Amino acid sequence: MSDLWGRLKSDFQLSIVTLVGICSVFGVTPYAVYRLHEGNWLVGFTDTFLVLGTSFAVLYAWRTGNTVRPGQFLAIIYSLGGFLVTIKLGINGLFWLYCLVLFNFFVVPPVQSLIATLTTLVAVCIYGWQHPGDIFESHYQMMSFVVTYLLASLFAFVFAYRSRFQRRQLALLATLDPLTGIGNRRTMDEELDIAIADSQRYGMSFGLLVLDLDHFKSVNDRFGHSVGDRVLIDFVGVIKNASRASDRIFRLGGEEFVLLVPKVGRQGLAGTAAHIQRSVAEQLSSPGGPVTVSIGGCVLEGQTDRDIWLRDADICLYQAKDAGRNRTVIKGFDPAAN
Ligand code: GH3
Ligand code: MG
Ligand code: MG
Repeated sequence: MSDLWGRLKSDFQLSIVTLVGICSVFGVTPYAVYRLHEGNWLVGFTDTFLVLGTSFAVLYAWRTGNTVRPGQFLAIIYSLGGFLVTIKLGINGLFWLYCLVLFNFFVVPPVQSLIATLTTLVAVCIYGWQHPGDIFESHYQMMSFVVTYLLASLFAFVFAYRSRFQRRQLALLATLDPLTGIGNRRTMDEELDIAIADSQRYGMSFGLLVLDLDHFKSVNDRFGHSVGDRVLIDFVGVIKNASRASDRIFRLGGEEFVLLVPKVGRQGLAGTAAHIQRSVAEQLSSPGGPVTVSIGGCVLEGQTDRDIWLRDADICLYQAKDAGRNRTVIKGFDPAAN
């Protein structure tokens, strides 16, 4: 049960499809029963089809985790259902089309929703034009419907577009470190898991460097936190310049960073680390003078857990610190022998 609740909380689109599914099933079923009971077969079967189709879409979304196709399916069947109910019930069906506008914007992206919503409007208007008196009592009434329907669609579109944009921004912010703009620990965890999976599946090789600035506390203590922040931002700039485009840098926290290096063995990883170390010592400084970095590294060799991989690199980092700082230790790599 808590698993179901967890999925609903973490997957916004799944919760929306489920909510509209439950509302539709409970809202439309009584109408389906009533219409079938009074012998209004077209509307009765349309309502029944909507209820069954909705149940199927919700189950599909839960089973596969794919909410895109069920959303599109729901938008199509409800637009079609809305049209059929309207041509059969006339003005009493029109009221449901305003619900359809909102419904569509909930289940599919704004542009797709606009297409479904406007297609329904055009279909209803063409039918109404060709069958005077069936849906609209007058052209004036038809125009009033068109204008109010378009306004409702416009408001729904703007709202859906804005909230979608904000949701994307929030998702992006949750993956970035606010100070330096690089990936945060959460992003790193995901990327390390992908690297481990790629290594197991395709035999790709990866190396990992943990970088920790030396005596950084004294930079803060002597010159203040904002100067320390500036050094952290500059540090990331130096790393980006000194590494390859395919390398990925993350902020682990504080003044500790991780560089994920694809397609390297121990020697290649040691070369990358040495280059970075030199670049930092030459290019990074605080008002008190040059700032250096200590680096611990480890290539992926059978570790199936990212924490173990990180821990191996961290042990090397501490060895580098113990050995006097501004140096690199790579697990299993002896610089003297190379
Ligand atoms: P070591 O060479 O052993 O790594 O020494 P250190 O001083 O770098 O390490 P220590 O762990 O003692 O201090 C880390 C400092 O990093 C402490 C904290 O004030 C500073 N720090 C952590 N996060 C930030 C940040 O976001 N901005 C700034 N300016 N400082 C930070
Ligand atoms: Mg440090
Ligand atoms: Mg540290």
